This record gives sequence, C-alpha cells and structure tokens, in this order.
Amino acid sequence: MTTLLPTEVEDRNPLVAARRQLRDALAELDLPGMFDMLATPRREVTVSVPLRRDDGTVEVLIGHRVQHNLSRGPAKGGVRFSPHVHLDEVRALAMWMTWKCALVNIPYGGAKGGVTLDPRNYSRGELQRVARRYTSELMPVLGPATDIPAPDIGTDEQVMSWMMDTYSVNRGHTVLGVVTGKPVALGGSLGRASATSRGVVHVALAALRHRGVAVAGSRAAVQGFGKVGRDAALLLAEAGVQVVAVSDQYGAVHHPAGLDVTALAAHVDATGSVVGFAGADPMDDGDDLLFLDLDLLVPAAVEAVINADNAHRVRASVVVEGANGPTTPAADEVLADNGTLVVPDILANAGGVVVSYFEWVQANQAYWWSESDVNNRLAERMQLAWESVVETAEQRGTSLRRAAMVLAVDRVANAHLARGLYP
Ligand code: GLU
Repeated sequence: MTTLLPTEVEDRNPLVAARRQLRDALAELDLPGMFDMLATPRREVTVSVPLRRDDGTVEVLIGHRVQHNLSRGPAKGGVRFSPHVHLDEVRALAMWMTWKCALVNIPYGGAKGGVTLDPRNYSRGELQRVARRYTSELMPVLGPATDIPAPDIGTDEQVMSWMMDTYSVNRGHTVLGVVTGKPVALGGSLGRASATSRGVVHVALAALRHRGVAVAGSRAAVQGFGKVGRDAALLLAEAGVQVVAVSDQYGAVHHPAGLDVTALAAHVDATGSVVGFAGADPMDDGDDLLFLDLDLLVPAAVEAVINADNAHRVRASVVVEGANGPTTPAADEVLADNGTLVVPDILANAGGVVVSYFEWVQANQAYWWSESDVNNRLAERMQLAWESVVETAEQRGTSLRRAAMVLAVDRVANAHLARGLYP
C-alpha cells in the first residue's frame, strides 16, 4: 500500500481523484498488487525555465513533465501553460492520459507537462522563449518514440511549432513526429484542431439518445469556450441542440431559446470573452450555468468544477466531461445518487489524442490523409469506445466512469504483465 499524501483528504485535489478512481477500478479486477505500480509515475522531470523578460530582467519559471506509464508505447500528453500547474496536478493529468490512450486503444502511455505561468502576462516573444527553453531542458526525455507532447490549456499550435523546431534544431534534422497539434502547414493533421470537440459531441449525442432524449431541441450548456468548449458548442448547435448557456473565465451568457453560437464565436474573436454578447443575458455568477435545468452539461474548462460543495445543485440529465477531471469523486457519488449520467473524461475528450495519434502516424509515414478520412476514423473509434464502455457498465452494473476505468486499467496492467518486470 502506498503512502497517502497529506493532501489526499482534499476533494478537489486531482491526484486524489485519479488515485481513488484507480483504486475503484482495481477493486473490480483480479489484479492483486498492481495499485502502486499503476499509481506511481515511471518518470518525473522538474526543470527550471529561466526566462529573459522583454525588459531585460530574468525570471526563473518552473516546468514539469510526468511520464505516467510506458507499457503500451511512448508517453503522450499535453503541455499546459497555466498559473495553476503544480506537480500533483501534472501527475493526475498524466495518469488520466494513460487510461485515455488505453481506452481508445492507441499505442501510447500517458504523460503530461506544464510550466507554471499565466500566459496572459507574457508577450509572444517571451512565450516563445519559455517554450524553447522548456523543450530544450526536456530534450533527453522527449522524442517521437519516447514522449510526444501536444497542446493543452494555455498552449496552441504555435507553441507546438516552437517545440518541434527547438527539438529538431538540437537533433540536427526536422522531426515532425515529436509533437502533435502542429499547424497543418508544418505537418499537423487536418481535423486535429476540432478533434476533441468532435469527439465530445459524438459521445454527447450518443449519451442523449441512450437516455431517450431527442437531440433536436434538447438543451445544453457548455462551461469553457476555449479549445474544447468553443467547437463543442458550435457542433452541438449544428446537430440541433439548443445551447442555452456558455461561460468562460470572465463570465457567462444565457439565452433560454438557444444562443446563436456562431455569432457568439465572432463576438469572442472580436472581444476576447463571451461577456457582453448582445444576443444573450449575462449571468451574475458564471458558475450558475452548472445548475441550469438542462439535458446536457459539458464542463470543458478545468478540474474539480463539480465538487462536494455544489454537485447537489446540478440538474442536467447528462454530464459529458470535455475537460480532464471536472467532477470530483465526492461529486460523482452525488450525481450517481441523483440519476445523472456522467460520461467520463477519458472517453468523452479522447478525440484530441486520437487525432494526435493520427497526426503522429501521418508524420512518421510522411503521408497525409484527407480531412474526411480523419473525421471518419475518429468517429469510428469514438463509437467503438462508447459502445464498449456502455456494454461493460451494463454487464458490471456500474457507472460509465468505473466501466471505462476497468477497461483501460485492465489493458495497461495486462501489457505490463505481458512484458514482465525488468530485471
Ligand atoms: N491535451 C489533450 C488531452 O488532454 C491532448 C493530448 C494529446 O493529444 O496528446 O487529451
């Protein structure tokens, strides 16, 4: 039995949640003695990222990269630039990547990384220097066969380009497969930018139908209007769902008859926030969006937004986790008691890493697929994963989260056991 961290009493600590979910899954599987092996990251690297600011002063930032598991292939996962990045969070996010990759059956282990900074306080030139120094500090552990970063909160295809360039210059040749989520002009995949959202919407529509809710005219809210939430809201509206509320870190807007999401996206492009959108009413507290009377709630921002303090107020019939870890274990229990169907993050938001895998395959073969090829293959994988999770949940009489975890943990544990312990 591993030593509990002092923070393990906190409902909102993502590592506590991740370890609890692993423990619950192992309790369903006949895999004695696997908890420590699967709860402990294989490798953790913490680096200083000294940054020369535009004013000439030097600031020393801290970065991490955690490779949680390598049994099924190279480590894979995003890099976050956020003031909230800390090692326990990165460990949890890396663990979730392992289960996500296993669940959708792509040949990777899980990783995550990040630099603790608020990108809004830094110029583009400064962010470029951060990305390059962080990459250069991690050179020994990155590589297309070792560990392949991708965008996450606060990073984008430009950051991926700088990371790819830094890695390549140091290796002496272009290595397209070292990161995914690159611009299409630089070996990115068609369809990658909207892949997470596309996957979220695919399973959200499947979950509504599973619940017997007609998609056309159903009511949804999306928390977060970034890389995941924005295209999810657009694609939901395209599918006939009424997106009645959307929030970002600055506030929320609400329109009971359904927002014009395309107009909202144009407003965000022009102003940087959903706040002030003329086609809707402002909500006093952005979090109130979580408690609307809805068919579908998509938390697509950060961890622990549905927690012990507020889960009893959630009235949505279906919660689809666009973010990683938005529901704490205590909240999970409350939602289950209230009959809410929760589609877990490792299934719901796996579309991003699925198309990252497609990007890596294309880069390694130097042969590029059409956008419809990418989207069709993504839809096929999401559908297969959805069906296997629902089937397992029904067979075992358990939640979708527990079922998804059981499938994923079993795959990873069996890969580990088949390889055997070295030496
Ligand atoms: N950051 C994304 C996630 O959490 C994508 C990771 C990837 O594509 O490697 O799933």
